[in-house]
Amino acid sequence: MKIKNNRMFFGFKFILPVALALFIIFCCLPVLSCSKNAITKTPPGIIAEPERNTNKTDEEAALTEEKILDDDKFKLMRMNMVQNQIAARNIKDEKVIESMLKVPRHFFVDESQQNSAYEDRPLHIGMGQTISQPYIVALMTESLELSGDEKVLEIGTGSGYQAAIIAEIVNQVYTVEIIPQLYNTSKDRLKIYENVKVSNHDGYYGWEEFAPFDSIIVTAAPDHIPQPLVSQLADGGIMVIPVGPPGWNQTLYKVIKDGEDIVIKEITSVIFVPLTRSKE
Ligand code: SAH
Repeated sequence: MKIKNNRMFFGFKFILPVALALFIIFCCLPVLSCSKNAITKTPPGIIAEPERNTNKTDEEAALTEEKILDDDKFKLMRMNMVQNQIAARNIKDEKVIESMLKVPRHFFVDESQQNSAYEDRPLHIGMGQTISQPYIVALMTESLELSGDEKVLEIGTGSGYQAAIIAEIVNQVYTVEIIPQLYNTSKDRLKIYENVKVSNHDGYYGWEEFAPFDSIIVTAAPDHIPQPLVSQLADGGIMVIPVGPPGWNQTLYKVIKDGEDIVIKEITSVIFVPLTRSKE
């Protein structure tokens, strides 16, 4: 009995710790590996970044992930826009295509409109004004035949989107907006571009201080080609401008300055908001 008891005691003494160790190994390993997965798991299509702030609350971490997914969603929309609306309609200039792939159009519209930002149509930007359909932005930009070292004047800043598209391509952009509220918002948005200057005045008169310009783009329609804009266009420069009565029967023109002469070519029919005039 005594011996038997001793054996049992030895058995317990030996088997218990081993069983305990095995229990810990088998039970805890899966838990450890699960939690490791939970930390490093990355949503599909997103490149994992190293954890930067370990003090983040769950809520903050979720917000960051949501933002990344959101950016990814807009990037996809942008790629579809370029493929189906721009390249499919024969816009070939690589610089224009690249710029339209890069500039986040949704950033230039009100939050409530962001999901429509890449649709094939103009969008309201407040104060009765619109941001042009993506294809028209691309067509006008391509028509300027930009090589990259131009100084460009835009009349009608609006949301700032067209200015951003050009700023990705050239050295310097000057853009003029007549409505103070639109000027203020677009000026803020365009702060990310060091090569864009924004002004709040009647663009019918161009921007004398920085003339001459290699290219001029007008994104509101006057009923005639403003003489001050022709004067501020450099020799050999190109101006793209819609001309016509408010709301209908407008034509987009390419105006090329050739010394004292100007050559005018028709591009296509368009509908733009009217170029309004200051009251003084
Ligand atoms: N290019 C803009 C779209 C502009 S819509 C964009 O990418 O969002 C036309 C803009 O021209 C409007 O914002 C309107 O206020 C502005 N505008 C109209 N007449 C103007 C004038 N005389 N001078 C400057 N801006 C003018």
